[in-house]
Amino acid sequence: MWIHPFEATARILVEPAVLDMIFGFRQNAAHKTEAGGILLGFRRGDHLHIVEATTPQPADRRSLFRFFRRDRYHQSVALKRWKESNAMVDYLGEWHTHPEVRPTPSFLDMSEWIQICRREPLPMVFIIVGMDSSLWVGVGVNDCVLNAVIAV
Ligand SMILES: [Zn+2]
Repeated sequence: MWIHPFEATARILVEPAVLDMIFGFRQNAAHKTEAGGILLGFRRGDHLHIVEATTPQPADRRSLFRFFRRDRYHQSVALKRWKESNAMVDYLGEWHTHPEVRPTPSFLDMSEWIQICRREPLPMVFIIVGMDSSLWVGVGVNDCVLNAVIAV
């Protein structure tokens, strides 16, 4: 659980099963390429509760230093969950891995996230998973993405 950088009283909660799943993709071996997907969950007041993450799909572009989400699967899961839950489960953000011990966003990451935040009216969560299970967690609103807390 992390503190929301824009709202002092708000929290970001990630279900342990989601963390376990994304940690499974961490780049802890030389042959492992970047992985990523989207984050789905509930907005409870200012709180963000992540309950699901999508996994890399065949049409995504993956290399050692880049994950480019292009498979339509991610969006189709988001839409399906949204419909099934009567619009309660929402698209909350993005996750991807980095081949770094202490991950930090690249210039490209920041510019992509700002594009997403300009489209989405509500706060979005961005997670980068490091090689050793360290995490970078950010929250974005409009043109600003702030770092929440790095949990190691
Ligand atoms: Zn990145």
